[in-house]
Formats: sequence, C-alpha cells, structure tokens
Amino acid sequence: MEPIEVTRRGFVGGALAAAVLSGTRQQSQLAASQDAGRFNLYWGDLHNHNAVGYATGTLERSIDVAREHLDFFAFTGHASWHDMPKMPGDRHMKWVNGFAVHSNHWPKTRRMIHEANTDEFVALLGYEWHSSIFGDYCMIFPEDQPELFLPDHVEKLLDFADAHGCLAIPHHVGYKRGWRGANFDHFRASTSPVVEVFSEHGCTESDRAPFPMIRHSNGGRSAANTIVPQLQQGMRFGFLASSDNHRGFPGAYGEGVVGVWAKDLSRASLFEAIRSRRTYAATGDRIVLEVALNGQPMGSDVAKTSDREIDIRVEAQDSIAMIELIRNGHVIERHFPEDHASVVKLPGRAKCRVQYGWGPWAALDLGRTCRWDLSLRLDKGRFLQAIPCFQSGPYEEEMRDRLRAFSQRELQLQSFTSRVQCYAEDPTKAVVCEIEGDPDSVLTLQLRQPVEQTVEARLADLVEDNVVTFTGVFTSESCIVNRLVGPTEYAAKLRWTDQRSSDEADWYYVRVTQHNGQLAWSSPIWVG
Ligand SMILES: [Zn+2]
Ligand SMILES: [Zn+2]
Repeated sequence: MEPIEVTRRGFVGGALAAAVLSGTRQQSQLAASQDAGRFNLYWGDLHNHNAVGYATGTLERSIDVAREHLDFFAFTGHASWHDMPKMPGDRHMKWVNGFAVHSNHWPKTRRMIHEANTDEFVALLGYEWHSSIFGDYCMIFPEDQPELFLPDHVEKLLDFADAHGCLAIPHHVGYKRGWRGANFDHFRASTSPVVEVFSEHGCTESDRAPFPMIRHSNGGRSAANTIVPQLQQGMRFGFLASSDNHRGFPGAYGEGVVGVWAKDLSRASLFEAIRSRRTYAATGDRIVLEVALNGQPMGSDVAKTSDREIDIRVEAQDSIAMIELIRNGHVIERHFPEDHASVVKLPGRAKCRVQYGWGPWAALDLGRTCRWDLSLRLDKGRFLQAIPCFQSGPYEEEMRDRLRAFSQRELQLQSFTSRVQCYAEDPTKAVVCEIEGDPDSVLTLQLRQPVEQTVEARLADLVEDNVVTFTGVFTSESCIVNRLVGPTEYAAKLRWTDQRSSDEADWYYVRVTQHNGQLAWSSPIWVG
C-alpha cells in the first residue's frame, strides 16, 4: 500500500497514520460518565500579533502557522491605545502607524479570517485594545464584525462586547495599574469569563510565580494586581494562556497556549466552553489536564457542600515534577511522582522527546538559520502520538515547521532553528513522540538536512541514556534523542478529598509542573 501523508488537519479522516498526530484529540474522562456529556480537548491561541499592527510577519503566515499546530486561533491585531503617552523622539509613532495599518487592513482581515475556517480549524476575528489606566483587552467575536470599535473608556468597550456577544479578555493583568495592568474595579465576569494567566510577557498568577515579567517595558509584577488576590476578593474567572507573540507565530512554544474542553470544534462550541470556563493555561507543552470536583468540570460553580471529592487526570509531555492542589490561593496537597517507584517498562509505552537546534553563537556574529529535514522511524513498534514544540524564533517569513505522519512507523519533519532571535535563549525546537515498543525496537533518526546522517537507538538503551549527535565540527547544530519517560512519570490520576464547612465560598485549582519547567494551570472550581 502506498504511504498516505497525513497532516494534523487530516486526523479525523480515520487513516492509519491519523491517530499519530491526533495526540491532542483527548476525550474528557472525569466529569461525565455518559458519552453524551464528554468533551474533547482542543488547543489554541487567542492573543497574537503580526505586521497587521506594529509586529512582524504577514497575516497569511500567521494563519498558516496556526493551522499547522493548533485547532483554533484568534488573530488580535493591535488596534488602539487611547491614552498612550507621547514618547521622546516621536517613538510613539511606531504604535500610531501600527494602528493605522491595522485599521486600513480590517476589511481584508475579516475576509481572511472568515476564509481560514474549515471543518477542522477554527479562526476567530478579534483585535486588541490598549489602555494605560484600564489595562489591555483582547476582543474576540463569535462571528464577523464589520465595525472596529475603539472607545476611550473600558465601560464603553465592555458594553459594546456585551451587545455583540464578544469576549473581552484581560491580559498581562499583573502590571501595575496605570501601566497597562488590569483595572479590576471594572471587571465584568460575564464579559470576561476567562483571564490570561500566562503569555510571553510572563506569568501573572501571583508575584511569586515562575516566569517573572521581565520581557517588556511595563515594569514588573504588582503583587496586588496579580490573579490570586482577585480570586481571594471573590471575583470569578477561568484561566487561559496565549502567546501574545509579536512574530506572527500563534501557539509559539513557551509563550502560552490554551486548552479548551469543548463538545466539538466549532466557533459556537468553543465560545460555550470558554464562557463555562472549561479552559486552562499551559506554557508550551500540551499537558493534558482534567479536573473535576464532585463530578463537575473545571470552571464550575458547585453548590455549597462540605464534602469535596477532587479528581485530577494529567498526561504531561515530560516527567512530572509536581502536581499541586490550591485552595483559596494556598497549596493544600502535593503529589510528587518521583516518590513512587517509576521505571520505563518495555514492552510498553513511553514518551521520547527529539530535540534539535543549538548551533553557532549569535554573539560572535556566527549566527545563522539552519534548515532541518529528517525522518523518525520506529521498527518493531509504533508511534501513538507526535506533538510538535515549535517556538517562534527565528522569524523567517518563507520558512515553515511541518510535521507529517506517513504511517504509524514513520514521521517526517521539516523545520528550522537558530540562535539568532530564538525565544528566551532556547535555540531548539522539538517533537514529543509517544511510542509503543519492546526493548529491541529501534528508533531511527535519519537526517537529510543540514547533513546526511543516520542515528539508531534501541529502546532498551534509551531507557538508560540519551543520544547526543552533532552535524559537524564545533559550532555545528546538534540533536538529542532524549531518554524515555515512562507512563508513571508522565501520567497521573489522583483523587483528593477535602472536608470543609465554611460560609465563604472556596475555590480550587490545580497546577502541574514538569521537570523541564513547563507548567499548566486549571481554571478554578468554586464551591458555595
Ligand atoms: Zn496587551
Ligand atoms: Zn497583545
């Protein structure tokens, strides 16, 4: 039989290889016992930029990139900043000009977003409204929106959102008020059912969270303006992450991605799921995270009860360092998988991260963009999943990262890496493969570019050691086939119980931390 090339968009067709790239097609298991109540997990980015505005890259490329590795995205171009300060040397003209580009392009933006929708990919129309005193919002529309509404007050913006069934999502909320941090005095739960916890700006969970906000000009985190204190004051909202990427790369690895538990992949279902707060934030790795309290999914308002049974299901993309249950802003339970014996058992399943990049220093003017063309083959075994970890750097308008499955035994990857403009000084990209095999199964990495090279590794050997390979002499790019991670290291099913009878409402969320530093945060569940 001729091999069939299967893209991520082609999963649902039922081809043999389709299952390999359908790693994201997770079904909910905890909340509802009947099939009819089940949700599917979809991954997206609801906040990103390109040259339609004051960032980089065409909208055509953003759409192409999003379709390659996401289920849905909203393009939220820079639209206005009503109280922008005048900057020395007319530097504010960068923003002014960007807003003009965005406004002029609006009819074309609407058409392109409309045309990007297929049965297997959802593109949403949106824009971003900046405000020094009220904080920034991403406006996301359920349908087309002819008018760009850019008022000078947040109440007018939220009224407009309500009138059009539009979501207004506050982001980088943890900046100081007056410096584009959120102004929670104007918070409207119905218009802003979810709030961005993480993006390339950093993490706004609390002032002690990892990923401090050090990448922009808005200063650091204001403790009182982060998310936990708002929930402690009784506000209710779910969590999401999105990249806020400025290189036209929605879903950029490491910059934030949102998981949504929705009935199906349609605009209406995604909106229903977001309004119900069945959303969670992840930094980059597509950590599957499901939480239920007394059978109610994340984001729920559960009626007052003293007995709380909290079920958690995690399928991470690396070994899990820790799973934490947070109640009212304080950790009340911790699970460390390492405390329990965990070994990779073969024959069986495991995850293997194949990471490529490195290469010459940018600082010594040796930087370059390296093209990769490679295959991964598994003899006497099969790939169950293959999840790309494509970061936004370097910006190359014409180049693409493309992962294809030809069968359950063969993946093909075209990609490019560089130390120049790499995100957060990480000059690598990766693919995480879930595999099934026995000790003698052989994983073959066959490079065609940047050089011809074949690397073979027995799975039994990959339990003990990784394989590091170089494509030439120092300072050439290199590649790692990482040590295998076993199911007891990357997956967990937990049940914690909490007994409490308080008059105040309690809220719970779950935080997952992988050993490689990637995190996920569930939306809270409220009791009472
Ligand atoms: Zn913003
Ligand atoms: Zn933005």
